[in-house]
Amino acid sequence: MAGSNDKSLMERIVSLCKRRGFVFQSSEIYGGLSSCWDYGPLGVELKKNIKDFWWHSVVVSREDVVGMDAAIIMHPKVWEASGHVKHFHDPLIDCKNCKARFREGEAVFYFKCSVCGYSFTIRDKRIIPDREFADKIAEEDLRGEPYHYKGTNCPLCGAKKAIKVEKLACPECGSVNLSSPRQFNLMFKTHFGPTMDSASIVYLRPETAQGIFVNFDNVLTTSRAKLPFGIAQIGKAFRNEITTGNFIFRSREFEQMELEYFVKPEEAEKWYEYWINERLEWYKKLGIRPENLRLREHEEDELAHYARACTDIEYKFSFGWAELEGIADRQTYDLDQHIKASGKMLAYYETETKKHIVPAVVESSAGVDRTFLTVILDAYWEDEEHDRVVLRLNPKIAPIKVAVFPLVNRDGMPDVARKIYEEIKTHMSAFYDQSGSIGRRYRRQDEAGTPFAITVDSQTLEDRTVTIRDRDSLRQIRVNIDNVVEVLKEKIEKGWGE
Ligand code: ATP
Repeated sequence: MAGSNDKSLMERIVSLCKRRGFVFQSSEIYGGLSSCWDYGPLGVELKKNIKDFWWHSVVVSREDVVGMDAAIIMHPKVWEASGHVKHFHDPLIDCKNCKARFREGEAVFYFKCSVCGYSFTIRDKRIIPDREFADKIAEEDLRGEPYHYKGTNCPLCGAKKAIKVEKLACPECGSVNLSSPRQFNLMFKTHFGPTMDSASIVYLRPETAQGIFVNFDNVLTTSRAKLPFGIAQIGKAFRNEITTGNFIFRSREFEQMELEYFVKPEEAEKWYEYWINERLEWYKKLGIRPENLRLREHEEDELAHYARACTDIEYKFSFGWAELEGIADRQTYDLDQHIKASGKMLAYYETETKKHIVPAVVESSAGVDRTFLTVILDAYWEDEEHDRVVLRLNPKIAPIKVAVFPLVNRDGMPDVARKIYEEIKTHMSAFYDQSGSIGRRYRRQDEAGTPFAITVDSQTLEDRTVTIRDRDSLRQIRVNIDNVVEVLKEKIEKGWGE
């Protein structure tokens, strides 16, 4: 099985996604538009299943959450009130040496030992010696792989605590010849209507959450909800990210699944803990291996000024631990801002106290595309014993639930197989394939993550039974044609079992 630290794992995933029709580069025939991605036939199904899985967990199965779907383009005042116009910036740095462009947070530190003068940077926890300095010292001192940085001792002379951070360096080439950081607003701007003046400027939303906040009163009044209650939304968001990459992990157009859960301010802490736990469990139910998930609480200096606390759910990607979702106790900040800016009352009437209160909000903000990448990475398995690549997707989210094959194209087997396929298709997504060897047909479906394969063989013609093959264990059982749908439904719900 491919270890998740394997360097080329991401390349293999990108290639599998293209080969099997999960994800394509946007506008590929024109050379591609960087950091925009298109979801192909299997990708769109998997993505939809992930969103449905979320919607079911957060909205359908609960009585305290309702959904909504706001327009992507909103009144520009929304983004002034939310602070995005003023604060949604990333400091941008240019490397004057190699011309790389990166966010300030991505710059690496430049170290210099005050005893021997050795200078270096640290990238991915490894020491990268400064080129210029390396030229001046004995070759054997630098031979071999850069080694792990073990603390504040100088890696060359060993002087204790002799290293001090001098300045930032380029993460690409290690040069300290950098431009000073420039503020760069991440919102995409466009013009609304026929005039192209400053009064017609609108933004593509950088998050779905504001669509929820500005509709707080509409939803409250129409759904007659009682605190605590939540409003959920899934939709596209756009950020003109300075640096993108790692496939669909960070792109300029992506989809979010957001829940704003409104609570009495004094109960915010309790609900914050509740949603952290609830959301972590959701990823496990989705099929992500628990050892690849962790919680990371934000340090005080990472927190936005209005947030009391924030915890990220992180996944161990092949490039390191990174954020999948943020859960934040945002207090009453968002509603307060819109009350101030719009002059409208966005409050909840408490019958017990006969007072209007502005609820606090606990937010869960997850990325569809990052979850998609996580699901694929976590499911990817190179089964060397059987010389195949398998996507061990949870059957509940697999794009195709079952493939139906005639063993050979004769003796009426294709007719029987097609009939079974037609029947199954009315219950779940199925795929019929009669071309090529049976082994190849199985392997194609293994790569697509299809959990079950039904094969019609000569015995079928005698006793109306077919085999159902399990993708992961390769076990097969024989089932009567009349029971196939029922057996499949049970196996999708409960797994292969035994
Ligand atoms: P990051 O630090 O990775 O940029 P963020 O903290 O800015 O993320 P949030 O604003 O909290 O992200 O957005 C919530 C979620 O939306 C993230 O956890 C992530 O899953 C998703 N997301 C944010 N930006 C992007 C992007 N550029 N591409 C894909 N998904 C994104």
